[in-house]
Amino acid sequence: MVWLFDYDLTLYGEEERFVLDSLDRRIALFVQKTVGGDFENATRIRKEYLVRFGTTLSGLMAMNGTDPDDFFDFIHEPEHLIYPKEAPEKLALLLGLKGPRFVFTNGRHDWSEAGMAHMGIDSAIDGVFDLKMLGWEGKPHDSAYVKMERWLERVLPEKGWAMPANPSEIVLLEDSLRNLEPAHARGWTTILVNPNVEAPAWVDFHIPHLMNLPDILPEVTSRAGCAHR
Ligand SMILES: [Mg+2]
Repeated sequence: MVWLFDYDLTLYGEEERFVLDSLDRRIALFVQKTVGGDFENATRIRKEYLVRFGTTLSGLMAMNGTDPDDFFDFIHEPEHLIYPKEAPEKLALLLGLKGPRFVFTNGRHDWSEAGMAHMGIDSAIDGVFDLKMLGWEGKPHDSAYVKMERWLERVLPEKGWAMPANPSEIVLLEDSLRNLEPAHARGWTTILVNPNVEAPAWVDFHIPHLMNLPDILPEVTSRAGCAHR
């Protein structure tokens, strides 16, 4: 079994939404810096890009010729950001999961890596597959999931693991339903981690918080098709 974790609002939960809010403020400032005008105008454009392009960055790249690394260099300046609190309970939970564990994120790797270091869980994560490695076209584009599988095919043997024979052995935990849909279509096992939305019938598992994962672990293991040794 291969465990894939989204980072924002999945490895840290709704109770630490202020972490994401601190990043959103920087994104709004970057938009303001790029498009000019006041903060309100920038906020409006940011929301418009989100709806029209899926992410603010995609909108900036398409409409303003933004270099994605410039964008992330600006929004990830640590002095302006808040990180999740130390979480030894999450470290224990993650270390208890058999099989490799990766982060699959629409952010750049430095954001999730810094956050995981603050939580003290970085030692439990075997790698981060980030937006840059996805060629800046992230979830929920099909290409992102294809690239993730190809990356696993390459990385797992390097680390001494076998590529799962069945796609159901790839388990994705995500707070975003939209990002789970293509994973479901590829036959991965989907776990919605979100206390605020109803799960449609196609979602395999639904938990409010990462810390609820042990409650469903036996069923996840049996759905994924391998014994949890
Ligand atoms: Mg998320």
